[in-house]
Amino acid sequence: MRPGSADPQQRAVYDAEDDALPSEVNEFDRISEFVRYIRMACKVARIERPKIVFMKATDWPYGAAMANDRSMNHKRNILYFSTNRKSWNRFIVVHEVAHLSAGGNHGHGPWFAGRMVELVYELIGPGYALDLVRSYQKHGVSFRLSYGW
Ligand SMILES: [Zn+2]
Repeated sequence: MRPGSADPQQRAVYDAEDDALPSEVNEFDRISEFVRYIRMACKVARIERPKIVFMKATDWPYGAAMANDRSMNHKRNILYFSTNRKSWNRFIVVHEVAHLSAGGNHGHGPWFAGRMVELVYELIGPGYALDLVRSYQKHGVSFRLSYGW
């Protein structure tokens, strides 16, 4: 999530993910397991070791990402997650890592949505990737894949 960025697709992406991915599940009970999964996902996405921050907040989305941006003198990728373990699942991790993979100012645009499909495919499996593509099409989300699909 990047508040303030031009992001006309955001609502459609959220709706498409809600339909296709079981994002409201708790898959990790221990913070160490969850962090290990986050680091593995970053490795698969070829993201340099990001800073991982846990925040205690209730009225807050369960994850957020801030991509490094040299022009803003902010040189490190940062991932934010909730201390609420009910939100600890692979789909939230993949969504936030896709933001870092798409890079700085892409919001929920076609580059982000394409990376999301690719990372769901690599990290979770082709079945969910296909469901997500169908859901993007149903919700009018445009996406651009980065390699030869
Ligand atoms: Zn997002």
